[in-house]
Amino acid sequence: MKKFFTLLIAALLLATTPAQAEDLGVELSDIAATDFNTPIEKFYSTLPKAKGDYKSRVRPIMIEGAMNTETEFLIRALKNPVAYRELNYLFVAGTYKDYPVVIVRTEIGVANAAASTALAIKKFNPVAVINQGTAGGHDPALKIGDIVIGEKSFDYTAFRSAYSVAGAGIDLTKQENIGTYAYDKASGKFQAYTEFFPDPTLLKVAKKVANANENFNVVSGVIGTGNTWLECVDYINFLHEKYGSSCEEMETNAAAQVCQNAGVPFIGIRVLSDNVTNDNRYVPESAKVAQEFVLLVVERYVRDTLNHKEVSD
Ligand code: SAH
Repeated sequence: MKKFFTLLIAALLLATTPAQAEDLGVELSDIAATDFNTPIEKFYSTLPKAKGDYKSRVRPIMIEGAMNTETEFLIRALKNPVAYRELNYLFVAGTYKDYPVVIVRTEIGVANAAASTALAIKKFNPVAVINQGTAGGHDPALKIGDIVIGEKSFDYTAFRSAYSVAGAGIDLTKQENIGTYAYDKASGKFQAYTEFFPDPTLLKVAKKVANANENFNVVSGVIGTGNTWLECVDYINFLHEKYGSSCEEMETNAAAQVCQNAGVPFIGIRVLSDNVTNDNRYVPESAKVAQEFVLLVVERYVRDTLNHKEVSD
């Protein structure tokens, strides 16, 4: 009998939990898409703070974005969001379509992406990690708003230049990709990886979502990562030709590296906010497109792969 009442009260509480948009007390217009780097307090102080350690009977899916513009839509999509703050990185845990999801604001660049991903893996023990956000196009066939599913990623700043004598000038096209170091389970060593591949299941699911939703313009391609923002079209063309890069950004390969170390399935998905090979605009608002697409990927991954119906109550 006592159990019955406990269940009844729990059911009533669930039914009366206000929708997440009301919870936040923040209007979408409060965070302009151009306000990419809002002080963390401005947005996150409006979220309920987590009490104690994260607990979930089911391992969550983690979605990463570097900036407000790349995480805000995702956070708003969560039910019962609670905020965690660790070394000044922010994590928001909640549920999406009844499955636990954690949004990680990685902040910009490879060191931040690596640090926040490692912290979040320890803290939330995710079943999969999706790094998403904006990128600059390297492929003239792609336009702003198009999505690139990372068939692979690489660090285009990890290279050894060819030797040349003083005064010979600078030619970055004479280079060899020397990769970045990640744990190799077979040898038990950290080894150089010139590229990282996504988890095959996540890749398959992302492609299925692309095929099923024609309103998104999606390609599979190569994501190039570095702490750089290239606007030199000759250099971009060189990277596109030598490495097949579809786009550049600052986080994916670093997160992929850490996920490989931790043995966590990973994929990178990016939307073009700019492409100097065919356009001179920067449209950070395109970040929303990647977030919408990624939520569809999460939904399908949970349904097809994690068989959520059987693991949930
Ligand atoms: N929006 C800021 C700058 C963002 S810095 C501003 O207005 O000044 C770049 C961030 O956007 C990184 O997180 C990176 O992943 C992504 N990005 C988008 N286009 C990029 C490009 N062409 N080169 C490098 N990073 C890019």
